[in-house]
Amino acid sequence: IVCYGFCAMVFAFAIIIDVFPYPDYTSTFMPLLLIVVPIIFTFRYRDTIPLAIIAEVTYITLAYFYKSPGVKYSDIFNSLVGLILSITVVITVMRLRVADNSAKLRYRKLSTTDSLSGILNKCSCESCVTEYLCLKTPCEPCVILIMDIDNFKNINDKLGHQVGDRVIEEVGRILSSAFRTSDVVGRIGGDEFMILVRNVSDEDVVQFKCNQIRENIKQSILEKLMIDISCSIGAAIDTTPKTSFGELYSLADNALYEAKAIGKNRQVIYRTESPISKKKKNTKLLHFSLDFLTVNTIYGILTL
Ligand code: GH3
Ligand code: MG
Repeated sequence: IVCYGFCAMVFAFAIIIDVFPYPDYTSTFMPLLLIVVPIIFTFRYRDTIPLAIIAEVTYITLAYFYKSPGVKYSDIFNSLVGLILSITVVITVMRLRVADNSAKLRYRKLSTTDSLSGILNKCSCESCVTEYLCLKTPCEPCVILIMDIDNFKNINDKLGHQVGDRVIEEVGRILSSAFRTSDVVGRIGGDEFMILVRNVSDEDVVQFKCNQIRENIKQSILEKLMIDISCSIGAAIDTTPKTSFGELYSLADNALYEAKAIGKNRQVIYRTESPISKKKKNTKLLHFSLDFLTVNTIYGILTL
């Protein structure tokens, strides 16, 4: 509205300067302004064109009555040519801007999306999670899930890379439909996926969600590709005020490592510790070390 008011004001000044102070001289501002305004300001067609027409009609009326007969007809002609050029410029500039913006959006999407699975790629997934962790309120909990397909190499080896690719594609589709749009879902490695689930801290909910995802993937791939696959998930629930992406990621990664180590096809859930419980744990560890030291010393004395 401010820009629109500003343009109307500029047109009003141009009309006044072109018509009143020098009625015997040819106008210069009005035709020029009709072409320049649509280049500088981006309005919708339905805003720019009526503004130019209103300015033009006002100018023609005033020029007709107040300018000297020697110049008024050529001025009116010039400004009409200016109006036609203005409409052409409005349409051309708008088309170029739309094409430019769509190309930018397309390239941005290509640079942030994993072409195979259709979800975020590693770099943009990590930066989305990092940004979320930096900006979130201290009391907002979240969960990071790292999911890895079990024995994926066997699928590649037995059925070929193309089938493996279709499995990744399908997993990406299932994951992106299983979470809210405010959550972050990305592929961070060959058969490894990362999900940030916002506002969840309850372990039962995480268990339920992990079971649901694993079951969905299993069923869907069995139906579509006739392959029996399973997945392992490592989850890190963050309830502390400030945890870095690195800390949370390595916690989820350790959980995934444990899930793989104890037999795959399951989830292991870890939780970040609040500073108070960390202190308690450290104290316990110290007691244990002291006890261990005492036992060792006694054993040493006895053997001596
Ligand atoms: P584990 O249960 O321990 O995870 O065993 P795994 O066989 O799944 O082993 P791992 O996760 O380490 O291996 C992932 C494999 O995924 C290695 C690589 O050959 C394959 N891979 C990586 N990227 C792609 C891809 O884009 N397409 C296909 N088809 N395979 C890929
Ligand atoms: Mg794997």
